[in-house]
Amino acid sequence: MLIKSFNFSVLETICYLVADEKSYEALVIDCNIRTQKEKELLYKEIREHNLQLKYIINTHHHIDHTSGNALLKKEFGAQILIHELDALVLPEQWQWFEKTHNIMGEPLCDNCKDVKLNLKIMPEQKKVIIYCDKCGFKYEIFPSPPADRLLRNNNIIKLGDIEFKVMHTPGHSPGGICLYSEKEHVLFSGDTLFALSKGRTDMFDGSEQDMKKSLKELMKLPEDTVVYPGHMGLSTIGKEKKENPYVLGIK
Ligand SMILES: [Zn+2]
Ligand SMILES: [Zn+2]
Ligand SMILES: [Zn+2]
Repeated sequence: MLIKSFNFSVLETICYLVADEKSYEALVIDCNIRTQKEKELLYKEIREHNLQLKYIINTHHHIDHTSGNALLKKEFGAQILIHELDALVLPEQWQWFEKTHNIMGEPLCDNCKDVKLNLKIMPEQKKVIIYCDKCGFKYEIFPSPPADRLLRNNNIIKLGDIEFKVMHTPGHSPGGICLYSEKEHVLFSGDTLFALSKGRTDMFDGSEQDMKKSLKELMKLPEDTVVYPGHMGLSTIGKEKKENPYVLGIK
């Protein structure tokens, strides 16, 4: 199995290209390409390996994991897959953003840390632009097409002979998922499990209770499972079981 990771976007979200080298079937997890350069990097990799892109999978509905859906689908015609609970947000992300903004206030700039970001919400175009006056940080939300297939817990996604099991792991968002391949010993953990950390649960649709249950579930996987998270570096289930402070803190 081929796994290529791309550290795209200002929010350091990792996009994975996964392919079965026998059938050349491929999927992209959390496509967040936004610039011409990022587009070319990902497309080049797909074309150089003669891959047939079947699926674009979003581990959850957040913009830094979905902003490339429209571009990638247009280029390769792949299907967009997301859990049924997060699918509702997908084509209306600006509304979710507006709601979050109303509840939590303006977010801090990721670059300047202490400066509040400006938001420009344009409902007619289903668009949001977030920008920082101080450092020039800018993030534009591109609307995603709706999902082509809705995922549920234990669904199987096939790539040639490789099977990925969908694990519904809510907490960071209601429809957060992880993708697990028993045969390949890999877990794509989205923003549920990070190396020695976990995803935030303070958004209006997040849940700390659900997060605890989800992490508990993930810790039942074999210890040699390699974890590919939505942000930061790789880990293994064994390491997380022994050293992750959040996991250790769950009763
Ligand atoms: Zn997220
Ligand atoms: Zn800034
Ligand atoms: Zn994220």
